Amino acid sequence: MIEALILGGLGFSFGVVLVYLARKFEVKVDERLEKIVELLPGKNCGTCGFANCEEMASASLKDPTYLERCRVLEPDNRRKIEEILGVSLQDISKKIAIVACTFQTENKFKYVGVQTCAAAVLVSSGFKKCKYACLGLGDCVRVCPFDAISISEGEVKIDKNKCVGCGLCVQTCPKNVINLVNAGAYVFVSCSSRDNAKTVVGVCKNGCIGCGLCAKACPVGAIKIENNLAIIDYSICTGCGKCAEVCPRKVIFKLRTN
Ligand code: SF4
Repeated sequence: MIEALILGGLGFSFGVVLVYLARKFEVKVDERLEKIVELLPGKNCGTCGFANCEEMASASLKDPTYLERCRVLEPDNRRKIEEILGVSLQDISKKIAIVACTFQTENKFKYVGVQTCAAAVLVSSGFKKCKYACLGLGDCVRVCPFDAISISEGEVKIDKNKCVGCGLCVQTCPKNVINLVNAGAYVFVSCSSRDNAKTVVGVCKNGCIGCGLCAKACPVGAIKIENNLAIIDYSICTGCGKCAEVCPRKVIFKLRTN
């Protein structure tokens, strides 16, 4: 009888302690988390700096400005998340990826190694005559979570309608030949070569030679030549297209016409 009472007392005491501990260390689940996860793109591309969208959602509960890093977030969903969190986030302009290469250089040797750009670049900086050229072995295609990149006859094509500007391809390209530009950009210099004019002419049919005619023709001063390459300042460019008209190498492409 006494043993039963002792055991009962111990059981009761342990129960009280367990309830106390459970309450004290209870992890409260924030109901907003699930809602935000549902509104995020769910692509887990990681370009925001978090391993996946759920981690991003969790971090945004503590600091909503993390959400400004997500380039994939649909404007409507962004607005709904702002309402959930009671904040107003800074807009980020939509970007798209562009390959800054005209694919007009030839091979300097036959590459037979592992068929990835990352492997090919280890052999003499790649097999193209222009050392800045796209190698076309598709590391960007494989990494794109949005199926926006394809390769046709050795040329990388990026589907503007599918690209969300997450930047994974930019990070992956070992030749740094993919750039992110504002989705509303009018023109684009399709070359990455920093070589001088003589070298460029020797290795590519229409790489930029840094002649500066585009910069002179630009009525608003949106183009400057840096390291033998024309660079467009998109915060100034009005899209008049004069640079594309005067370029003797036809290396400035129009992205849109109005
Ligand atoms: S005009 Fe053409 S080749 Fe000359 S600097 Fe401009 S983009 Fe390069």
